[in-house]
Amino acid sequence: MTRFIFITGGVVSSLGKGLTSAAIGALLQARGFKVRLRKLDPYLNVDPGTMSPYQHGEVYVTDDGAETDLDLGHYERYTGVASRRSDNVTTGQIYTDVIARERRGDYLGATVQVIPHVTDAIKAFIQSDIGDEDFVVCEIGGTVGDIEGLPFLEAIRQVGNELGSERSLFIHLTLVPYIASARELKTKPTQHSVKELQSLGIQPDIVVCRSDREIPASALQKIALFCNVRKGAAIQALDVDTIYAVPRAYHEEGLDGAICRHFGIEAPPPDLSIWDEVVERIRRPDGEVTIGVVGKYTSLLDSYKSLAEALSHGGVANNVRVKVNWLDSEIFEQNGTIQQLENVHGILVPGGFGERGAEGKIAAAKFARERQVPYFGICFGMQMAVIEAARNLAALPKAGSTEFGPCEDPVVGLLTEWMHGNAVERRNVDSEKGGTMRLGAYACDVQPGSRTHEVYGSDRISERHRHRYEVNINYREVLERAGMRFCGLSPDGELPEMVEFPEHPWFIGVQFHPELKSKPFAPHPLFTSFIEAAVQQSRLM
Ligand code: GLN
Repeated sequence: MTRFIFITGGVVSSLGKGLTSAAIGALLQARGFKVRLRKLDPYLNVDPGTMSPYQHGEVYVTDDGAETDLDLGHYERYTGVASRRSDNVTTGQIYTDVIARERRGDYLGATVQVIPHVTDAIKAFIQSDIGDEDFVVCEIGGTVGDIEGLPFLEAIRQVGNELGSERSLFIHLTLVPYIASARELKTKPTQHSVKELQSLGIQPDIVVCRSDREIPASALQKIALFCNVRKGAAIQALDVDTIYAVPRAYHEEGLDGAICRHFGIEAPPPDLSIWDEVVERIRRPDGEVTIGVVGKYTSLLDSYKSLAEALSHGGVANNVRVKVNWLDSEIFEQNGTIQQLENVHGILVPGGFGERGAEGKIAAAKFARERQVPYFGICFGMQMAVIEAARNLAALPKAGSTEFGPCEDPVVGLLTEWMHGNAVERRNVDSEKGGTMRLGAYACDVQPGSRTHEVYGSDRISERHRHRYEVNINYREVLERAGMRFCGLSPDGELPEMVEFPEHPWFIGVQFHPELKSKPFAPHPLFTSFIEAAVQQSRLM
């Protein structure tokens, strides 16, 4: 029997609903339950794939090729459960579906309305594609009171009503702010937010209160009383020093206990030893390395959420703290200075789009190659490293990517045809932008004897992709002669997936996004190895 836990947020945005949902998933899992996490996003885009990283942060890609909200990354990092297309929906998807059905005549002449047709589509989504999960934790994006959120709240109200409290639970996350002039924590915004929710027919069962300082027991009791929740169901959530301390912190405050009580289930206490170990390693590192990340979206670090986490996991694996210098690649284009890279122990060029800043990334790859500094190129970062090698090692000064317009030596070019399983996928320059990249998990054969083979310890790997352009296999020979090894290829041998310089201490480019699969308790081998190389580098400096 699957139970549903709905998580809403109030008072302000950015309270960490995603992390709370992820931590609840982890706690239930640690009590022996099978969980699944989902996100309902009220915005009108069909998916976040077409949104600017400055607006929305990272686009998280699933194995089955969906471009989803970055919260799904938290879910996966905390539970290890691979998310799927069916774990994230938006208003845009719901309406696309409802309108297509209306056009087909599926509604048999009915007037198509938000209630019941849109809400039915949301309810169907919430309950779709579920197997033997004990719990589905379902986060509602946005804040209570948002106009776009109304159909979603109505849908979860109906689901709660249909399933009853034995199978559904509502958690509301709010803020209890400290007012300096009154020297007091204030509960009123929480009361108002819960009232708003109640006016929509939803009575939360648990209220989780974010606060930057200890909330007195009397204030929590007051919240419970005014918000009509059981004693002990108003739970404080204090700021913690690392996000991986959240599951333990919530457990100590009794959150998972309150959830079990609500459902009347007896479960053994959670085994949080993996979390305690990760947190211990983060809190007590043995040394520090500095990584220079040369990107474009450095003003909004949410754009590199999974990357930042994967780097820290690499640190956990090596018992070091990873300090990241976020560097805007454009600074390397002005007067050719690359000073900011002088003191870093590793250089990482992450995924990116468009010509702006590309030359700076190429310059960073050159610096890393020539100065023997560990280099990790991810997606765009691999493409720029290949262009650099073509220009400066293979005597192809006109080498470039067709992403920036036509060029004489397109060592990176538009991918128009590729194999996905047994099917051929085709695109051209006029294809729609949304959802048409090479997306999701693809296999890659790893060359025995290469460094990447040593890192993975495997002949065949599977990693997630999100890109339109591809290193052109026709340049393989000339680049290999110049010293760059094509150590990973698609199983049909057509698409370069990984490159490395065998003569360099650590220089690896990958066409996929390994950061999406790294977890604190299972750091990705490429990140573990990269940070290990950075530790070596720090000893030389
Ligand atoms: N812009 C490049 C492409 O589309 C790289 C994309 C990426 O780094 N995710 O191929």
